[in-house]
Amino acid sequence: MSEMKTKRTSVVIVGAGIGGVRAAQVLAEQDVDVTIIDRNNYQLFPPLLYQVSTAVLAESEIAYPVREFFRSHPNVNFYLGEVQDFDTDNQTVITDHGNVDYDYLIVAAGSTTNYFGMKSVEQHAFPMKTMTEAIAIRNQIIRCLERAEQEPDEAKRRELLTFVCVGGGPTGVEEAGAISELIYKSMRRDYHKLNFDEVDIKLMEGTDRVLAMMPEKLRNRTVSILQQKKVDVRLSTAVVDYDGHTIKLKSGESIPTQTVIWAAGVKASPIMSKLGTEAIRDGRINVQKNLSVKGLVNVYAIGDCACFIQQEGERPLATVAPVAMKEAELCAANIIRRMQGASQEVFSYKDRGRDGNNRPRSSSPAFRQHQYDRVLCLVSLALGSSFQAGWYLCQPDRFTEMDVELPAQYKTFPHSHQPLS
Ligand SMILES: Cc1cc2nc3c(=O)[nH]c(=O)nc-3n(C[C@H](O)[C@H](O)[C@H](O)COP(=O)(O)OP(=O)(O)OC[C@H]3O[C@@H](n4cnc5c(N)ncnc54)[C@H](O)[C@@H]3O)c2cc1C
Repeated sequence: MSEMKTKRTSVVIVGAGIGGVRAAQVLAEQDVDVTIIDRNNYQLFPPLLYQVSTAVLAESEIAYPVREFFRSHPNVNFYLGEVQDFDTDNQTVITDHGNVDYDYLIVAAGSTTNYFGMKSVEQHAFPMKTMTEAIAIRNQIIRCLERAEQEPDEAKRRELLTFVCVGGGPTGVEEAGAISELIYKSMRRDYHKLNFDEVDIKLMEGTDRVLAMMPEKLRNRTVSILQQKKVDVRLSTAVVDYDGHTIKLKSGESIPTQTVIWAAGVKASPIMSKLGTEAIRDGRINVQKNLSVKGLVNVYAIGDCACFIQQEGERPLATVAPVAMKEAELCAANIIRRMQGASQEVFSYKDRGRDGNNRPRSSSPAFRQHQYDRVLCLVSLALGSSFQAGWYLCQPDRFTEMDVELPAQYKTFPHSHQPLS
């Protein structure tokens, strides 16, 4: 008698980032087949990209092979490919290496750099969202130092030695501080003929404050520490154009520079537009209270590419790692519940800074402590890469001290990192 083998439910996850891998880890324990699709075969740890871009860490230190997470879970498989489209009627994900069918789909495709429509900036500035981009920044900084040491013309030398970070959020602040560390502390010892007084590191922010979510006292302290590190902090400074040699500001000022690092904003992965449903600002897709996508059958979205509004009138949840992980856990649980015919759970995110009564952030002592710790960490990072941030940037007890001396091999040039094809 032939034995009938029933096909297991198939869950496909697009994106092996913070949210995607967490969802797969939860589903790995269940009686389902999981396929994770990503264009890279590693999970990236974005909070430390800036350290790769400034030669403090090697790429292998912030990337982990996806398959290794699931060695002991044969029901979880990885599929290398660039997702190009979705056929939600036929429950298929279309990639550049074939199609993958699903019973349930979790889209965790993350975000990409937002240039706010400035094509010239997009063409010439350096973004910092991927490993390839962080390594391109590292190569660029080292290339500029090498070229500047040989350049007899002072104006050209200064163009090579001017490094502009745009965006006064955590990434821009960290990057500007880390470039200062790299150049003034480490490279100063190696480039004997270079006049380091000609180096000019700038941090530009369109609003009147860096780290907008922090209390004023700590914002001011951050600026003062950056200034001590010879970073020229320019607030209320909007960039309007960049041609690879000169950055133009809204004020009319032009600054010659070959290096503009763009950390001014993110938007959802472009693949979200292929889902063909209602998207809101920055391309993030609206998700319902159970994290499913309205109008689509068995499709969920989590993390940076999803827009979850907890309470009417509130801003969407922030694009940060803890949100992506918590959403991943509930989304995976809801898929299992749906398979079992149980009712769906509603996602609820409790900010570590809010108190038990959900009082406004500004009146919450817990929030103030949380923000204080977070700024202390950022200031420490800006001070000299002396701390390594963990997943929870707000928990100082999770930081470990790092050696300030940079490993020589990270300073080699050129250094390439190409995604697998
Ligand atoms: C420089 C930087 C610093 C940050 N610092 C912090 C921090 O200190 N604390 C914090 O909480 N958060 C931080 N974040 C934000 C945090 O990294 C994100 O919120 C988190 O990674 C979101 O997880 P995700 O799963 O939604 O997306 P991601 O982790 O970005 O994963 C998305 C995955 O989808 C894949 N993908 C996208 N499109 C396709 C496609 N078409 N085909 C195939 N694969 C695709 C990508 O390759 C990627 O692996 C930082 C982000 C950056 C860029």
